[in-house]
Amino acid sequence: MLAGGCYCGGDVSTDLLQVAIIGSGPAGYYTAEALAESIHAVSVDVIDRLPTPFGLIRTGVAPDHQSIKNVTKRYDQTASRDDVRFVGNLSIGRDVSVAELLDLYDAVVLATGALQDRKLGISGEDLAGVRGSADIVGWYNTHPDYVALTPELNTPSVVIIGNGNVAIDVARVLAKTEAEMAGSDISPKAKDAISRMPLRTIRIFGRRGPMDASFTPKELGEMGRLERAVPLVDKADLPSMDGDADLEPKQRKVLAALRGFGDHSAQEKPVQVHFGFYARPVEILGHDRVDGVLMERTRVENGACIGTGEMFTVPCGLLISCIGYRSSAIEGVPFDERLGRFVNNDGFISDRLYAVGWARRGPTGTIGTNKPDGAEIAKRILNDVQPMDKPGRKGLDALIAKRQIRAVTFRDWQKIDAAERQAAEGENPRLKFARLDDMLDVVGNEAIETQQVKK
Ligand SMILES: Cc1cc2nc3c(=O)[nH]c(=O)nc-3n(C[C@H](O)[C@H](O)[C@H](O)COP(=O)(O)OP(=O)(O)OC[C@H]3O[C@@H](n4cnc5c(N)ncnc54)[C@H](O)[C@@H]3O)c2cc1C
Repeated sequence: MLAGGCYCGGDVSTDLLQVAIIGSGPAGYYTAEALAESIHAVSVDVIDRLPTPFGLIRTGVAPDHQSIKNVTKRYDQTASRDDVRFVGNLSIGRDVSVAELLDLYDAVVLATGALQDRKLGISGEDLAGVRGSADIVGWYNTHPDYVALTPELNTPSVVIIGNGNVAIDVARVLAKTEAEMAGSDISPKAKDAISRMPLRTIRIFGRRGPMDASFTPKELGEMGRLERAVPLVDKADLPSMDGDADLEPKQRKVLAALRGFGDHSAQEKPVQVHFGFYARPVEILGHDRVDGVLMERTRVENGACIGTGEMFTVPCGLLISCIGYRSSAIEGVPFDERLGRFVNNDGFISDRLYAVGWARRGPTGTIGTNKPDGAEIAKRILNDVQPMDKPGRKGLDALIAKRQIRAVTFRDWQKIDAAERQAAEGENPRLKFARLDDMLDVVGNEAIETQQVKK
């Protein structure tokens, strides 16, 4: 059986399995890759609400970490296969429903990620100057949903809540100089605004100790090599070296980096980045705008994080919570409000409907974690679902035409990509389009073409 197939018109064979994947991030593309590389004849449509593919690789991964974004070369290969098609600028739940996709395809996979900020759930969270990382990261990465934001940067003091790599990314992007951001694809608006900030202090807080932080050594280590910012830590928060032998290598490296930070002094550089542990926010203070946060000291007992009742106030004009994300619910799909993701049993939601990646597991793991996840879901679909001679691509394209939606193809994305690369200045890899209309102008007005995969 020819899995690669060729693009050509004609009827769809009854043993061609037609799958729609909603979301073109890592989870979507790894699932498409596993399906297409199986011994079965498949036709996979990878659908995204944006005209640009690759999810958080484009809009989440930090703009100064370009080498990480190279993973998209692998997705390019999958996207260029005859049996995999990208359908961009089509929002499922708004333009087309999941129920409609289930009518059109043999199986549907939700790979929609998790891009809503989890709330801190404390008073003052609605004050101006309190932001979630989805806002800030989307803004500096030119995500069309966030480009109009004007974060409250006219402050010397920033508090970041959270002890993962997203907290480090946000701190680093704020702390770097313009020169240090050369070679990145940060939004020029964000770069200018950050360079005008009267920044003096960034305080990163984790409610548990350094051994519970989910920083990776590489990202943490980078904080020790910034031009104008010095990382600081209170040595009293760090465990003694006696227990080092029992630690995992990764924890040992994190601890070594933090011990190094403990040797620095605030006077070394104009901006200080403090790593604070065993402290949780209990109230955000301010009238019209945040001017501080009330924190409570904590201790960890038998694995539980307990408040000690000892309070202290930290002044700040911008508070950014980096405490994780939730998926967005989609009509007709069972959603667990508490966990913030689709109700699923190892990726199975209901007959012929599956979830993968962050939409399945919640916001955990690295880009690579989505690969085995995609392979597992592909295998499950191939085992569970029989081809049913459904309308597939042709049916979707008819719906798109009827609803006059300007869906885009992978070739269209390549035009956008080329235009962005051409517009780049200096060492920067690209200048991203901020507005959907500008992207669609580059694409032109050809209607999406129905091409069937032949067995
Ligand atoms: C700020 C940040 C930085 C990160 N940095 C790194 C890093 O440096 N290294 C690393 O290994 N990992 C990093 N990660 C983690 C990595 O990005 C995730 O593991 C990965 O992107 C999750 O893949 P996904 O496909 O599940 O979701 P996503 O990448 O979020 O993709 C979901 C896709 O679904 C689309 N979509 C959503 N809703 C709809 C809808 N209704 N209709 C159609 N399309 C829809 C979205 O537009 C998006 O393209 C980072 C994460 C964040 C948040």
